[in-house]
Amino acid sequence: MFDLKDLGWNDRYAFGFEEFARDGLVPGRVSAQEREGYRVIVEAGEYPATVTGRYHHEARHSESMPAVGDWVAASVHDDFARIHVLLARRTALRRKVSNDRVFAPQVVAANIDVVFLATSANRDFNLRRLERLLTLVWESGAEPVVLVTKADLVDDIAPYVAQAEETAYGVPVHAVSAHSGLGLAEFRAHVEPGRTAALVGTSGVGKSTLTNHLLGTRRMRVQSQRESDDRGRHTTTTRELFVLPDGGCIVDTPGLRTVSLWASDEGLESTFGEIEELAARCRFSDCTHKQEPGCAVREGVDEERLASYHKLQRELAFTEQKADKREAAKAKRKWKTFSKAVRRTKNRNT
Ligand code: GDP
Ligand code: ZN
Repeated sequence: MFDLKDLGWNDRYAFGFEEFARDGLVPGRVSAQEREGYRVIVEAGEYPATVTGRYHHEARHSESMPAVGDWVAASVHDDFARIHVLLARRTALRRKVSNDRVFAPQVVAANIDVVFLATSANRDFNLRRLERLLTLVWESGAEPVVLVTKADLVDDIAPYVAQAEETAYGVPVHAVSAHSGLGLAEFRAHVEPGRTAALVGTSGVGKSTLTNHLLGTRRMRVQSQRESDDRGRHTTTTRELFVLPDGGCIVDTPGLRTVSLWASDEGLESTFGEIEELAARCRFSDCTHKQEPGCAVREGVDEERLASYHKLQRELAFTEQKADKREAAKAKRKWKTFSKAVRRTKNRNT
């Protein structure tokens, strides 16, 4: 049995659910996603689940398919559930996925309240990466918190924290160590009952160790379970959303481990808040902060930070271009047909 309030169920989701309840549906939260199907937690327990044929038919984009963390209206059967409706997401962490060389956004986790950006106080410490991850989190609607992990590995953690604070303008930064216990209480305080957290950061920074700390004695990577779906096939799914002993949830999906940049200018601006502020004082309103005279940004921001701002902007432009690749391919085909026609006409004329 689950108390869905621990998982974050609230009046906002409940509002309007009567309509689904009348059809015999119950609220559920997606706890795992794999190629073969989903797992869903409802009040009565956790079930393997698939979307209904109608849902599948009506979901036009990959983004309309359920993701880990999503709230859904489900029907529960003997030993499986069916997902009928996706409830409106409050937040969505996206990444770009390469599919036939067309880049499309994919939701890797939904309804996350707080995202911990973990960067360790040794070789992994990388402010530019931190900037990028921040952009991604701002974009998602979740709240970022920076963790400088493995604080025990350095003599003085203060300069790391100071640099992270400078980069992550206005975002809480905690130095933590799973070994010495430093900062673990501050870390834990962000995951209150009903709130859902996720950890992102490169492999080896200590994400699993911190997750296990929140879970207490419960193992994070639970054994894969073999169970049969409604068609009698055997499926293997591993839970990716964990309910903490005191309430609150933590999400760890394979997708989160490979997040990369999928962000818009809006996210970029919040990450570079001080650049945005300075930009208001540039002489030209459309200043690109590259060579214009009277540029307040070039005057007020150090070269390295400005360079990373420009680099991120280029990456965003590139990403958007990739997303438009389908359109571009269409245009190219048109152009080819056109130029062939022109060539044919020319040949005939010569
Ligand atoms: P993940 O890949 O981000 O999930 O990282 P893990 O949690 O698996 O940790 C990677 C390695 O770092 C393991 O060998 C951990 O024992 C070690 N580690 C984790 N936390 C700390 C810490 O606070 N201090 C130190 N010195 N090592 C840590
Ligand atoms: Zn400027």
